[in-house]
Amino acid sequence: MTSTTPTLSFDPYAAFREELRQFAEQECPPALRAIVRDQYKLTRPDYRAWQEKLHARGWGAPNWPVQYGGTGWDLQQRYLFEEITAQADCPPQYHHGLGHIGPVIMHFGTEAQKARFLPRILDGSEWWCQGYSEPGAGSDLASLKTSAVRDGDDYVVNGQKVWTSHAQEADMMYTLVRTSTEGRKQAGISLLLIPMNTPGIAVRPIPTIDHWHHVNEVFLNDVRVPCANLVGTEGEGWKCAKFLLDRERLSPATVPRLARLAEQMEALLQQRRSHSGASPSQHVLLERLYLAQAGVMGAREMLLSAIQEEMQGTLAASKSSALKLHCSELSQQLIGIALDIVGPEHAARLVEGVAATADDPADVQRQLVHTYLFYRSRSIAGGTSEVQKNVIARDLFGA
Ligand SMILES: Cc1cc2nc3c(=O)[nH]c(=O)nc-3n(C[C@H](O)[C@H](O)[C@H](O)COP(=O)(O)OP(=O)(O)OC[C@H]3O[C@@H](n4cnc5c(N)ncnc54)[C@H](O)[C@@H]3O)c2cc1C
Repeated sequence: MTSTTPTLSFDPYAAFREELRQFAEQECPPALRAIVRDQYKLTRPDYRAWQEKLHARGWGAPNWPVQYGGTGWDLQQRYLFEEITAQADCPPQYHHGLGHIGPVIMHFGTEAQKARFLPRILDGSEWWCQGYSEPGAGSDLASLKTSAVRDGDDYVVNGQKVWTSHAQEADMMYTLVRTSTEGRKQAGISLLLIPMNTPGIAVRPIPTIDHWHHVNEVFLNDVRVPCANLVGTEGEGWKCAKFLLDRERLSPATVPRLARLAEQMEALLQQRRSHSGASPSQHVLLERLYLAQAGVMGAREMLLSAIQEEMQGTLAASKSSALKLHCSELSQQLIGIALDIVGPEHAARLVEGVAATADDPADVQRQLVHTYLFYRSRSIAGGTSEVQKNVIARDLFGA
């Protein structure tokens, strides 16, 4: 079963689709596409190589307005871009700059901040991380305690962030800090842009079961940040944080990547069946896979209708949350099936910590184990499943 884009009798996007397809196949280096296809962890240079190609073509920021160097594409075009590049195994774009802080700076930032930060996000030369979560503030983000106290032209920042993805390789961190303890907890929060090489910042890796270095603790000890790096008004950072989080949930990228994973899993299963014959357990796996694929098709329909509603300004928060919830569950289901296809011996090899080698035929399948373990976090990162269910319940039942 393959996922295809529906063909309308008149398709206004047909030429656009073809242009994307040709670009993805001709411009994304085969070695990079192999890394994505075989589930290896993408490094900063990998992301950068693809970003440079896109930037040179004028497609560096599919979601940005033309005025800031973006494509000005509508949501439908952005979806097609994600679908066609996922089909061709191109890497996803690194999202912390392009998807998150870039649009916030455009909306709330000063002209000086736009001129300083946006071009370097676009060409991929500057890398960002998100300093939102803290040990006592994850789902309840407004409980954050990291403080920023004004001292002349600087803020002096003290506190701790946690689960900061890519902090070890980022140049900049967009950070929520408390500038006042007066009033409601959502008041008194500000958004600061902090260079990661500022004295007083320490990054400590958090080892995770997937054996990938992804998340970190970030300690801030008397870190001096110029007041010019405050985004928007002091004490009104919650507005910026919400603006960012609302966009984080409706990402057109996740569903096409899931569709591609489902397609790959089907190919792997069919390969195993033709190699060792179809056993009853493989029939069961095939049935599970078809059910998951039906789930991916459902997610695609849901995303397309969310895109239509977003374009008409009628999208309810519950739909984005339902999509996030459904995609988290689907990704865990699909990669669980993958692991059952390749068998437990690969998990054992991972635990041994054997170094990966490109000429090891089992190595590619071993990457699935890393991905399986990494995907356990899908139902936590970016808002836990329980929190998404609360949003849905509030919207539907006023609960
Ligand atoms: C791989 C990974 C990458 C991440 N990357 C980043 C990053 O780059 N930057 C960043 O700032 N953060 C990042 N996070 C943090 C992530 O956003 C938080 O882990 C998440 O918001 C949950 O917060 P918490 O861990 O404090 O859990 P808690 O909020 O303490 O929740 C614990 C449990 O209680 C449940 N719960 C909490 N409140 C409610 C409620 N009201 N109703 C029902 N159940 C509830 C939760 O669903 C969860 O099961 C990352 C996390 C992971 C796992």
